[in-house]
Amino acid sequence: MPKVHNFGAGPAKLPEEVYDIIRQELTDFDGTGISLLETSHRSSTYLKFNKEVQNVVRRLMKVPDNYKILFMAGGGQGQFAAVPMNLISRTGTADYLVTGAWSAKAAKEAKKYGKVNLVLPETNRYIVVPHESEWKLDPNASYVHICFNETIHGVEFDFVPDTKGVPLVADMSSNFFSRVVDVSKFGVIYGGAQKNIGTSGVALVIVREDLLNHALPICPSILDWTVTAKNDSILNTPPMFAIYIMGKVLEWIERQGGLEEMAKNALIKSSKIYKLIDESEGFYHAPVHRICRSKMNIPFRIGSHNGDEALEKEFLKGAEALGLIQLKGHRDVGGIRASTYNAVTMEEVDILVDYMKNFQMKHQ
Ligand code: PMP
Repeated sequence: MPKVHNFGAGPAKLPEEVYDIIRQELTDFDGTGISLLETSHRSSTYLKFNKEVQNVVRRLMKVPDNYKILFMAGGGQGQFAAVPMNLISRTGTADYLVTGAWSAKAAKEAKKYGKVNLVLPETNRYIVVPHESEWKLDPNASYVHICFNETIHGVEFDFVPDTKGVPLVADMSSNFFSRVVDVSKFGVIYGGAQKNIGTSGVALVIVREDLLNHALPICPSILDWTVTAKNDSILNTPPMFAIYIMGKVLEWIERQGGLEEMAKNALIKSSKIYKLIDESEGFYHAPVHRICRSKMNIPFRIGSHNGDEALEKEFLKGAEALGLIQLKGHRDVGGIRASTYNAVTMEEVDILVDYMKNFQMKHQ
């Protein structure tokens, strides 16, 4: 078995150094002699750790003091429900920009709780964030929701929209901590941890304090941001191990040089793959408009715009033989998808690029 290089979209590769730490600490958490897995969530050890993870989030993202940092169960999709349940009562309506499968899902969920205005014309071909001049924003909306990076379609915002004072809510599940963002431009930032910052089971939510206290009466306490904030994310037994891993990954990011370093690497890694695709004279085809190309998830087809499925199958088989795994595109779009999250190294991307070059030479 060759060394494995994991390009999966999530749950995704974790840094090797983090595994070493988890291994060491698994049965003795912070000198207690017991594992975190059997530690009370009300113990002073866990309370201390809970605070430390909040602090590292605050340092890395330079989160201003008027924002709360919450850890919530239910992953990214839990927040698809939590967002409307915590915010839509402000005016009864919300704006959703649908730029891919995940924002489409978020909009669908929100419709259960209020009126949803689709800001963009409907499409099933997600390859661009349309220019702001084409957006139909409702000035009366409770909030504007975007998916900052569409994991399936590979469409990423390269700017933070100006929503003219309406709170901006962003799903950052798949590009969290991969670039520098000005948190003060957002009302809420949320995402599941299992791509760039850990494993599944926990969502990280960063919410501006003035947006608290608007939850619908039907909102379960467990999804209520205000209740969660009041209880310092320990309302019930939290997904402690997922939060622990998130803390360890965030500390690793900090040791690497923080978000500036992550952004620099993400640009270099993704550019290597896009460059090869663009110079392949149509052998490889990346459908997303250049300006919105994701630096985390790179979907592409082989052989033609719509993909030659036999060739793509052969590509995946050959890749696996070299240890390059989880490259199959999402079933909704087919083809290939390379995810180049923070933990995927430059060397691994080089191995993939070499393989892509060789595969083209053999088949063109
Ligand atoms: N949003 C985005 C952008 C995602 O990529 C995903 C998961 N792939 C989700 C939300 C849903 O996350 P979860 O599976 O944690 O509910």
